[in-house]
Amino acid sequence: METIIGIDLGTTNSEVAIIRDGQPVVLEEDGDPILPSVVGLDTEGRLLVGKPARNQYALAPERTIRSIKRKMGQETTVALGDQKYSPQEISAIILRTLKNRAEKTLGYPVSRAVITVPAFFNDGQRQATRQAGELAGLDVVRIINEPTAAVLTYDPHPRDRERLLVYDLGGGTFDVSVAQVEQGVVEILSSHGDTQLGGDDFDQLLLDHVCDSFSKKHAIDLRQSPQARSRLLHAVEEAKKRLSFEAVASIEEEFIASKDNMPLHLSMEIVRAEYEDLIHPLLIKTLGCLDEALTDARLQATEIDKVVLVGGATRTPLIHQLLEERLGRPVHSEIEPDLAVAMGAAVQGGLIAGVDVGPILVDITPHTLGIKSLGDLHGFMSPYHFSPIIPRNTPIPASRNEIYSTVFDSQDAAEIRVFQGENEDIRFNTLVGEFVVEGLARVPAGNQILVRLDLDLSGILNVTATERATGLVKRVTIDNATERFRVRQRSDAVDRLQAAFETVEDQEGEDLGLEKPVLSLTGPSPRHIHEADDQTATMAPSLRAVVDSANRLAAKAEHIIPGASDADASELRALLGSLRAAIERRSEDEIEGISREIEDIIFYLEDK
Ligand code: AMP
Repeated sequence: METIIGIDLGTTNSEVAIIRDGQPVVLEEDGDPILPSVVGLDTEGRLLVGKPARNQYALAPERTIRSIKRKMGQETTVALGDQKYSPQEISAIILRTLKNRAEKTLGYPVSRAVITVPAFFNDGQRQATRQAGELAGLDVVRIINEPTAAVLTYDPHPRDRERLLVYDLGGGTFDVSVAQVEQGVVEILSSHGDTQLGGDDFDQLLLDHVCDSFSKKHAIDLRQSPQARSRLLHAVEEAKKRLSFEAVASIEEEFIASKDNMPLHLSMEIVRAEYEDLIHPLLIKTLGCLDEALTDARLQATEIDKVVLVGGATRTPLIHQLLEERLGRPVHSEIEPDLAVAMGAAVQGGLIAGVDVGPILVDITPHTLGIKSLGDLHGFMSPYHFSPIIPRNTPIPASRNEIYSTVFDSQDAAEIRVFQGENEDIRFNTLVGEFVVEGLARVPAGNQILVRLDLDLSGILNVTATERATGLVKRVTIDNATERFRVRQRSDAVDRLQAAFETVEDQEGEDLGLEKPVLSLTGPSPRHIHEADDQTATMAPSLRAVVDSANRLAAKAEHIIPGASDADASELRALLGSLRAAIERRSEDEIEGISREIEDIIFYLEDK
């Protein structure tokens, strides 16, 4: 059977994939599946494609072409050395490189391909992509939309009709699409986006942050030196990527500048929460596009069956958090987000060639792993707060860390209790292991402890706690960590309901467990709580009272949901969504009306 290759021809990066043993596989060269979409000429006039071309961009922009995809479909040319090329010709060089990669891996020639394009590409842009394929010696059997490809990767053959939301944030562009898939046919119901928003903007914000801080200290603006700027841009991008998995990232650049004939070095630590504050406004912008896409598709958030993440920048944990808050469901990023589109193109190629493509197999964490900490629980400080470290659906092996801090002055011990589950109250999750770190420095409260979880493929969890100031380390290994989770039976529901009410009612005057060696979370800030605080601060007292009581009711409802039947839980969730929207609109009547409906359900469940 003939191989039809799948190609993601991206603005920043491109990839090629094939179907092997019923599974899409992205092909690598020198261990790297990603080919930067950059073409250049070296000093001797030899053609460079991919990484070497990207590496020379800062030094030789006149001999390097990036982001050619933005020009596809335009009647224009770009200069490379002393020659002029059409956008199709430059794209053809990238496509030919990918074709060669496929032929080298397979050991035989390939001539047919499926190529992906953004959903918003017009006919001219699609035609130009087809021409680029032909120039590269490829018969382009189909051009498909990138969100369609992502849907095919996750759901080649859904049993029932499914509606998916594809959130795609790459290096330079953002788009969000709502798709419906039924019997293998994917229909894009709506698409929105911003062609000027992507991970590169996050780099720029971080660069400004680092340069501003350096300038405060040394009165030198590093942005003015092209060389320093280009070095730093690379360094901040690397730091940004590390912050997706680590709570802190350091940036060390020696001899970055000089003053009074003395070299100056840059050494800085970025804490994830600080970085998240920088990018938060941009992410809120993406949520605006998401709302528009839902409105255009005439769907409510609750009608979306699956949320799929695409694009390298969606590895940012704050994106997962904001989407889960907005859409009320877990997001899917089991498949490498920058490879999902190429894999989908290969799935489409496989379907055309008549190859049997099975559901994609990836090892993922079935449940969230995290620790107990002192933190917010439904608006109250509680020692039962569950602080997630490795979210569920994370591909294994996985390593993540967070920073916590001691709660009292001279606290010389910290209890690390590791739980598994999805409830923000640890009492509803499963304890998988615990230990105490002793011998901490007797310093004021706020002594930082870095807690790291490493989960390997066989389910072995290594937990490490490090006192940042002294380097004191305590480590434990927990076997079969992922197998301990037991889904509680319905018969437990009554006990859990009871526990839920006790929690809510006791919380205001609750003993915060302060005699115990607890940790509080200082890393990822519970942003929504701050927002809620800010929101109520500007409200009229009567409205604030209504909102406060609605928030208390919502907390009660959130507690009840895990023990309720599917139907009751989904009704409560929908009402909570409407309640949140009514609070945002500050509509007192609506808040009171929805609160009454929630109260009725709680009353009914209590009575059952
Ligand atoms: P793409 O266009 O899908 O290849 O995405 C490229 C963008 O993803 C660039 O801005 C990268 O810096 C960004 N990116 C890649 N890996 C990560 C990561 N681990 N965390 C955050 N951003 C990332």
